[in-house]
Amino acid sequence: MQFWYDYQLVALSVVVAIIASQVSLSIAARIKAHRSHAIGWLAGGATAMGIGIWAMHFMGMLAYHLPIPVGYDIPLTVFSLLLAIISSLIALYVIFSAETLSWESNAFSALIMGAGIAGMHYTGIYAMQMSPAIEFDPTLFLASLVIAYVASFVAIRLAFYYSKSDSFFELKKGLAAILMGFAISGMHYTAMGAQIIDPDAVCLAANSGLNAEYLAVLVISVVLLVLIITAILLNTDLTMAHKEKDFAVTLAKENERSLLEARQLAVELTRESLRNAEFANKLVDTLGALVIVIKQDGTVIRFNRTAEEVTGYNRHEVLGHAIWRIMVGEEQQSRLEREFSDLKVEDFPRNHSKEWMTQSGDTRVIDWSDTVLLDDSGHIEFIIATGIDVTEQRHNEEELKIAAVAFNTNEAIFVTDRDNNILRANSVFTDITGYGEEEVIGENPSILKSGEHESDFYHNMWSKINAKGYWIGEIWNKKKSGEVFPEFLRITAVKNRGGDVENYVASFSDLTQLKQAEEKLSYVTNYDQVTGLPNRQLFGELLRQEMATTGSNGKRGLVIYMRFIDLGLMNQSLGVSVVDTFINHFIAYVRSICESNAVLGRASGSSFILMLPRIEESHGLSEYGSYIAGSILEHIKSGELIDEKMVSLGVNLGIAAFPNNKADADTIIQNASVAHDEAKKIEASSYHFFSEELHKAAIGSYSMLANLRSAITSSEFELYYQPQVDVEEKIIGAEALLRWKHDGNFVSPAEFIPIAERSDLIHEIGDFVFRDGISFMAELIRVGVPKGFECISLNMSAKQFHDTGFIEKLKKYLIEHAVPPEYIKIELTETALVDDPQQAIDTIAKLKELGIRISLDDFGTGYSSLSYLHRIPIDQLKVDQSFVRDMTINKVSRSITETIVMMANSMGIDVIAEGVETLDEKEMLGRFGCFHYQGYYFYKPMNSGGFVELLISKE
Ligand code: C2E
Ligand code: CA
Ligand code: CA
Repeated sequence: MQFWYDYQLVALSVVVAIIASQVSLSIAARIKAHRSHAIGWLAGGATAMGIGIWAMHFMGMLAYHLPIPVGYDIPLTVFSLLLAIISSLIALYVIFSAETLSWESNAFSALIMGAGIAGMHYTGIYAMQMSPAIEFDPTLFLASLVIAYVASFVAIRLAFYYSKSDSFFELKKGLAAILMGFAISGMHYTAMGAQIIDPDAVCLAANSGLNAEYLAVLVISVVLLVLIITAILLNTDLTMAHKEKDFAVTLAKENERSLLEARQLAVELTRESLRNAEFANKLVDTLGALVIVIKQDGTVIRFNRTAEEVTGYNRHEVLGHAIWRIMVGEEQQSRLEREFSDLKVEDFPRNHSKEWMTQSGDTRVIDWSDTVLLDDSGHIEFIIATGIDVTEQRHNEEELKIAAVAFNTNEAIFVTDRDNNILRANSVFTDITGYGEEEVIGENPSILKSGEHESDFYHNMWSKINAKGYWIGEIWNKKKSGEVFPEFLRITAVKNRGGDVENYVASFSDLTQLKQAEEKLSYVTNYDQVTGLPNRQLFGELLRQEMATTGSNGKRGLVIYMRFIDLGLMNQSLGVSVVDTFINHFIAYVRSICESNAVLGRASGSSFILMLPRIEESHGLSEYGSYIAGSILEHIKSGELIDEKMVSLGVNLGIAAFPNNKADADTIIQNASVAHDEAKKIEASSYHFFSEELHKAAIGSYSMLANLRSAITSSEFELYYQPQVDVEEKIIGAEALLRWKHDGNFVSPAEFIPIAERSDLIHEIGDFVFRDGISFMAELIRVGVPKGFECISLNMSAKQFHDTGFIEKLKKYLIEHAVPPEYIKIELTETALVDDPQQAIDTIAKLKELGIRISLDDFGTGYSSLSYLHRIPIDQLKVDQSFVRDMTINKVSRSITETIVMMANSMGIDVIAEGVETLDEKEMLGRFGCFHYQGYYFYKPMNSGGFVELLISKE
């Protein structure tokens, strides 16, 4: 079937679509502005839009000319109009109800609107009632649906966004409307293109009788009328809206003006109230902030209650004074004064933060907000400063800062304030020290002090911190448990912007494990692994240290180098374990014969070194050396049975003395080693002194020992007796003193007793003294003991005292000579008591049980631990002759003597002074309370015959 378009009508239909779109977009914009009358606007808008769309469609249909008469079914046409209106309604509702347009709701509403438009179109076509029915090209049909959908989608979207602009004619909205109009028309004409009409089709709908032109004019008139009315309504609405807006603006301006007036009024009022002191004070006193009113010269004229509370000053102390005289430290006063005089009107209002000093000297941080009142000529009249105390707040901020920096490490950390009070400590601190954070807060870190460091150490540490801001080093501190531990400590001073120290941050780690590892390492490098003895290197170091001190005390020492002969061979033949046992026994033996300060080291597999420091003068260097060396040789010579194997080794010893001129430690060891070579050359298993002089002397003492041995058998010993007297010089006893007549000379016991003591000879000599002394006492008894004579005193060396068999011998001698034990007093030195106090107490108890008396000889020179006097039942204290000798000229000796005497008297112990050589000494001792004496002032030691004669002559 032939058809054509009336293009004027086509153009008109497009114009209608555009206008309809424009109107609907504007309506959408107004719906939002009219929340209260929304339903009316919604209905009106939807009608206008629906009619617009329908009209476009209808005109498109009218423009379509078929060669047959065409009519429209009226109810169906009206229905299509309703479809257009309803779908518009839905679309507008979506726009109205949503604050934001989601893609989903856009898509959904477009579906409904598109379906409405499409439905309207095809209902309109159907209203023509063609027979046979119009068929449609499927592709174009689908395309029309798609266009309907897309056009609706875009229309809704545009309408939604333009609902935000509220002007009727706006360029962007106009463009959107054109786009929408074309889209709607596009849909329509695509759909028209889709229809295939049978050439023989007949239109069954009743013809209205109106020709298409008239119908078009009619529809357009109606539609335009509707649209124009809507547009007019819209415009009125808009104008009203604009008027409302203008009114609001005017109102706001009005408010602002009155606000300004109010402020002026307030300033006036304030000025007024400032002039009225009482009112002003009351007013500002109610404020929680500090309020201070100052003149530019700093004079304070208002000072409110909060200011008083925060600063601690009474307003009467402040008013009339310059603010900087009161509130800041002296060094800041002039600065503040200058700052004030430089202030200009333009500087206000201003905010600043200042530290203020309170009356008690604390510092508070105040955030100030300053405004000014100007006088009539525009100059600053008053500065009104309003402040808030932010000290705590700042403090917390600081704390947070510190916390953030410091507390996430694996080191112990604590922070102190500038006065060294701990503020915080982390958990590692607790782990290491054992102190919880709450326990140390507010404490001084000195709670960790170990006492290992002198005050100098801390002094240096702090001067470094003050100068450089930090200190790093090792320090010994103490844990809560009391355990002292090494730590690696770092102290840093944290300064504020002004350069003053605010905090100290200390971080440390526990070095205990490191130290242990270090010690282990040093053990490996410094000690012999088999015996645990210091090796050659450590021995050298120890000797070096010793020599650094021996020089100053004047005493000399010895180094003995010992080397076993064929020790390696022994290892092979007897086995390592046997030789190790032998060596351990050897070490134990060497230690047993030396003083406790001796040091034994192992120089190599078969050589040992021994250091004998600070040898007592009385021992004699060479005598002592030959005693030790001789003892070792004798011990080794006798051999030892280990695991049923006989171990018998040769050893050579070399001895060197130190200090020796300027020889260093290594040279001394070298000397001893050289002396050892000398010994080896001369005789297997012997010793040799490095110095010829010493060697000769040693040979002398060695020969003395040999001579002493023979002295016993050839009865070269004799006991002399020195009388002991009371205050009236009556003889109350006598001390037996040993004499050695050798080669026609008397050898002093001071010389030979120490040598005898270092060998077993002292036992034989002691035996002689006790036997001879007891037999002399028996003789005295026979002769007749004079009245007042108590007993004879016998000296006993420590070695003898520790000999377990001696009490039995003593008993035997007493019985043999029928001497009651009360006639015997034993003189012991403190040395005999200190080594093994318990054994000493037991032995003394046994002697006391027998009835023998005990005197403590040389009292005051030895260990003088007075505490043991209470535990040991002694009968007499013998004040050493050195005190008696110096007593009259030396205050210290005098007071020692006096103390010993007083103490003995208070304990009920007899006290006797020896070495009394003058009457002065005797009298002084008497004044102290000592009434028993022994000394050259009374009698010198004499032989037994002389003593008996003396006693008889006194009778
Ligand atoms: P000691 O036990 O302190 O004996 C006192 C020493 O002082 C004796 O020296 C004596 O002669 C001397 N003396 C007495 N009065 C005076 C005085 O007024 N002025 C001065 N300067 N000296 C005075 P001696 O006899 O040479 O004995 C020295 C040391 O030898 C004794 O000191 C004692 O420790 C030891 N000793 C003497 N005989 C024996 C003994 O039989 N056995 C033991 N184990 N040691 C003995
Ligand atoms: Ca004595
Ligand atoms: Ca004495």
